[in-house]
This record gives sequence, structure tokens and C-alpha cells, in this order.
Amino acid sequence: ATNTPVPVVTSIELASLPKLASGKVRDLYTVDAQTLLFVTTDRISAYDVIMANGVPLKGAILTQISAHWFRVLSGAVPGLKTHFLTLTPPAALTPAERQLVRARSMQVRKLRVFPLEAIVRGYITGSAWSEYQKSGTVHGLPQPAGLSQCEPFPEPIYTPSTKAELGQHDENISPQKAVEIVGERYASRIEELALQVYKAGAAYARERGIIIADTKFEFGLDEETDEIVLIDEVLTPDSSRFWPADGYEVGRDQDSFDKQYLRNWLTKEGLKGKDGVEMPADVAAATGERYLDAFKRLVGKTLEETLAELG
Ligand code: ATP
Ligand code: MG
Repeated sequence: ATNTPVPVVTSIELASLPKLASGKVRDLYTVDAQTLLFVTTDRISAYDVIMANGVPLKGAILTQISAHWFRVLSGAVPGLKTHFLTLTPPAALTPAERQLVRARSMQVRKLRVFPLEAIVRGYITGSAWSEYQKSGTVHGLPQPAGLSQCEPFPEPIYTPSTKAELGQHDENISPQKAVEIVGERYASRIEELALQVYKAGAAYARERGIIIADTKFEFGLDEETDEIVLIDEVLTPDSSRFWPADGYEVGRDQDSFDKQYLRNWLTKEGLKGKDGVEMPADVAAATGERYLDAFKRLVGKTLEETLAELG
């Protein structure tokens, strides 16, 4: 049974639960008034558009990496609240539906989502590097002179963006603009938590051979206690740039365990931002291998072992 090929799943229908929403990668179902089933498909997006085909095992990899982080971070960041409840699917599902969402879903607390992408950058790369070269700033924030490509910032920086509706593009904003969107009190707590979680996660990953160059968190509000809760996926290769520490060198692009391979292929083929692109099997497989490699390093065992433990 262990050698049965796992099907690539880009769309799931669960008749037993009402679907609340569908994002680029995930489908959310309502379990009850306080609880969601958070299902991660094998869909992959790059430059804000979804590829026509999926990446093998991606949904399971992202779900299990996030679950691992929720455990690790709850211990590492004092007082941190997360939306994670359980990897066990809800009782309402039929046996066939359980099979469909097995390993790729978790039950989470349903919360009001702050309309911010809480981005933290430890190293200067990507759009931040482009902006810095033009203006010496990152999201409008002045940075020290003389930084080289992929160099660490003196301290990790918080560079939020807006959270765009499906099909729209997120917009980089200043921390001041984030205050205008969510209010002073929530904005400063979100910034503080984002930086704490990034630092704890980056230190953990670094000991396992991975540099987390930057990442994006989302936060929700527990309206009963007025507490800010870490939600969504956490420190995955979809939401972060993961670099192998052993090949790291300042002054050039880095290899990565994330979507960068796919992004580079799209750029090379002139397909950047085009809808409905079908990835060749080798590009999808190579991307999956990178995700699996990140999984093994972070979780410390293979995906197969982790899935076997799920039962
Ligand atoms: P991408 O991550 O590629 O930008 P996306 O933002 O459309 O895509 P998905 O990851 O596909 O998002 O779907 C997850 C959705 O679920 C997001 O809109 C996220 O804000 C929302 N979400 C995450 N956790 C919770 C939660 N605990 N309660 C309510 N909504 C949540
Ligand atoms: Mg998302």
C-alpha cells in the first residue's frame, strides 16, 4: 500500500460540509460556528496566478509543515496563540471524504482575519532588493547603505502588505499605513508577534540547514478575548523563501527550496503572470522535490514516516 501513487488533487468536493471559501491553494469548509476544516490542495500559485496542474504531495507537505511549526512555535514564543486544533478530520465526513482530505487538512479556529499580510524579511532579496537598488528603501523604509544582494538586514524588518482579493495583487505598504488599516493597538501587536515568530522560526530552521530569508504571516482576532492569533499556513515554502544554508553566499541569487524554481521557469518561458499555465511534468516534479527536501530538514523525518504516524 505504501507504494500506491498519491493522486495530485487540485480540486476537492466535500458534500458533507458547506464550503466557506476557496483561495488560490486552499478550500475552507465550515465545521461549526467556531471551527473550519482548512484543506490544502496540490494547487500552486506563482506571481499571483494559479497553475493549471498541481505539485505532487504539496497539500500534505504544507499541512504537515504548518502543524509542526504550530507545535514548535507555541513552545518557543511565550503567550503565542494559534488557530490550530487537530489534524483529525471532523466526524461529519464520510469515509471516502476522510481519505480525500487525509494528511492535507486540519481543523482550525474560525477567526476574523486582519486584512494584512504580515511580511518579515531577514535577508534582502526579491522585490525588496529591487526597490532597494532603485531608492535605498524597502516598502518605503530607509535601509542602511551598501547592502549586497541576499545579505541579512542588521535586524529582521516588518514590511506589511495589503491582503488582496482573489485575482488582485497585494500592495506593499508602510507600517504606518498598516496602523491606518487595523488601528494602532492591533497593528503594533501584529508587528511584535510577526517579528518574534520569524526570529524563533528562523533560528530553529537555521539549526536544520535552512535559511528563512523572508516570510508572510496572517493573523486573526479572537473577538471573545481580544487576542491576536497566528492563523493560515506558517513558515512553509509557499509563504516563505527557504535557502539551503550550505550553499548560501552574499551577492548573488540563492538556490531555494520553494517556488523560486517555478518562478524562474515561468520568467524564462515568458509566462510570468499568465493564467492557466500547465507546468511540464519535470518542473512540477522538481518543485515537489524541493518542498519535500525542506520538509525533511525542518521536521526531521520523511513525509512517509509522518503520514504513517497519522494512521
Ligand atoms: P495565497 O496564499 O496563494 O496568497 P490565498 O491568500 O488566496 O492564496 P489560500 O492559502 O488559498 O489563500 O486560502 C487560505 C485562506 O484562508 C486565506 O484567505 C486566509 O486568510 C484564510 N484563513 C486562514 N486561517 C483562517 C482562520 N483561522 N479563520 C478564517 N480564515 C482563515
Ligand atoms: Mg494563503
